[in-house]
Amino acid sequence: MTDKRFYYGESYQNITFLSIMFFFMIKYLFVGTPVPERNNMEKIASFTIDHIKLKPGVYVSRKDHVGSEVITTFDLRMTSPNDEPVMNTAEMHTIEHLGATFLRNHAQYKDRVVYFGPMGCRTGFYLLLAGDLTSRDIVPLMTEMFEFIRDYNDEIPGATAHDCGNYLDQNLPMANWLANRYLEEVLKGIGDDRLIYPE
Ligand SMILES: [Zn+2]
Repeated sequence: MTDKRFYYGESYQNITFLSIMFFFMIKYLFVGTPVPERNNMEKIASFTIDHIKLKPGVYVSRKDHVGSEVITTFDLRMTSPNDEPVMNTAEMHTIEHLGATFLRNHAQYKDRVVYFGPMGCRTGFYLLLAGDLTSRDIVPLMTEMFEFIRDYNDEIPGATAHDCGNYLDQNLPMANWLANRYLEEVLKGIGDDRLIYPE
């Protein structure tokens, strides 16, 4: 037998439930199904770059004004997007540990470093520095940093269970190799075609 109490809403809870259902029925009938908010959101600047034309390089991704200070976000693009294999997470993790350690110890730049970390698409890294900077400004810093990563052959800083969330996921030889490739193919003799985003 079917329990009729539910269908006739005899209990207090069922009346409340039916009232809520009724409210939404009326709302959707007369107001229409609500459009998810994401459809009204603007595409963020980094999604408007033509990733098909984008070559490995050093680019200014965006500039943000925080109080009186400008924060420049750099796009350190290390592989050609949608064109060649992306980097694996282990070597990106090692580059992140070494790069962050290098930057936060750098005599000239350590107080300007806001953030250094991997892109979700695994084709490069973001570097955020305080100051209104051009991509050309940081070529010497990036050359120094990637030489440090290319030549690094010691214990990876912060790669312990205490200091890191996934400390075994590291690949130093590949980090060395990728740093060398970025130096040789991108940073040495870099021109505007790899310093300014393609139109
Ligand atoms: Zn880590």
